[in-house]
Amino acid sequence: MDSKTLFAKAQTLMPGGVNSPLRACKYVKSEPVFIDNAKGAYLWDVDGTQYIDYVFSWGPQILGHQEPSVSAAAHKAIDLGSSYGAPCLGEISLAEEIKKLIPSMEMMRMVSSGTEATMSALRLARGYTGRNKFVKFIGNYHGHADAFLAAAGSAAGTIPGTPGVPEEVISHTLLAHYNDLAAVQEHFETAGDEIACVIVEPAAGNMGLVPPAEGFLQGLRDLCTQYGALLIFDEVITGFRLSLGGAQERFGITPDLTTLGKIIGGGFPVGCYGGKQEIMEQMAPMGGVFQAGTLSGNPVAMAAGLATLKRLQECDYEALEIRTKRMAEELTSIITGKGQSVFLATIGSAFTMYFSDKPVVSMVESSQCDAEAYATYWQQMMAHGIYLAPAGFECAFTSFAHTDEDFEKTLEAARKVQF
Ligand code: PMP
Repeated sequence: MDSKTLFAKAQTLMPGGVNSPLRACKYVKSEPVFIDNAKGAYLWDVDGTQYIDYVFSWGPQILGHQEPSVSAAAHKAIDLGSSYGAPCLGEISLAEEIKKLIPSMEMMRMVSSGTEATMSALRLARGYTGRNKFVKFIGNYHGHADAFLAAAGSAAGTIPGTPGVPEEVISHTLLAHYNDLAAVQEHFETAGDEIACVIVEPAAGNMGLVPPAEGFLQGLRDLCTQYGALLIFDEVITGFRLSLGGAQERFGITPDLTTLGKIIGGGFPVGCYGGKQEIMEQMAPMGGVFQAGTLSGNPVAMAAGLATLKRLQECDYEALEIRTKRMAEELTSIITGKGQSVFLATIGSAFTMYFSDKPVVSMVESSQCDAEAYATYWQQMMAHGIYLAPAGFECAFTSFAHTDEDFEKTLEAARKVQF
């Protein structure tokens, strides 16, 4: 069956024909292609078209699809049983590896998604401090737990209000613009003894890529320390992508709690939250803050995650960053050469080309980008075999599997785009 037929069928079975809203390609005025298989830097759809991938399952496949050591580890694990609901060695091995690379995660809990990780970290921060309010940034996305949907980024940012979420739940979510330290300070001055935590994407990736302004993360650290609130770094995107030690290593700021997802599962459903031992010990069964999961610590996911982290330690992050920056700059100059204004943001192996004539430092500017022009660009890049995120407010991810030839083909495709 071709993608068109499959999408028609899917729409009779799932809302919008998809299991996660962005996949419907609504923001680029198109329909999705259905993926048949993936290897290295490439995807193949059921229609037989090959694409160079810049989505990589929204980030986890930083090694490329079907990296041999990751696939082998997952196959080996599955032959020993796919789920026990009981402790297994893989949980310890992955936790030890994470702690080695991100030392602030003295103790941690494995869960099955980024959403679970952030939801649990917030509950823990509230339980530990005995406070209800928390600060989140407009356009940051921390998964779809109720409290985080206030002014969330990604596809949630396109929906007015928060249907389905009681007003009382959202009333504890204090909002500030990203990179606006003064706004956070004001929240603390007004309600400092009621704020449990500040949660932040240490480099924002869900309103497009927005790196933190100089002093922003340090300012958050200082305010949290001063007012006895916890600082939570949501490193679901940045963990093991900005560097092996994540954004906290790169920017030299230590949060109290960290949330991880994506890469640590090597393509399997995994999330993780962790931090200071004294705080983590508040979790049941040691403490009274409850969180549980049937599939938490799943042996196949642990094995794939561990193999991924081991392989990443042999990879050259700096080289990939340099290659990514060079390619993204070239791509930008090709598009601006066609008369389309672009603001490029890039860090590590991620970038966003905003279709905007001004710098993007928060959701204000991100939401003013030219969505029509992005749709035009996306449709034509897809037609030339380049698979990009189906919305202008997302990141493009590169991987260790991309060759220089892949980048050259991407630039070649961009040269053919007509606005
Ligand atoms: N936090 C961040 C920063 C994310 O980007 C995402 C998902 N893109 C999540 C949390 C939620 O993760 P998941 O989709 O695995 O629930």
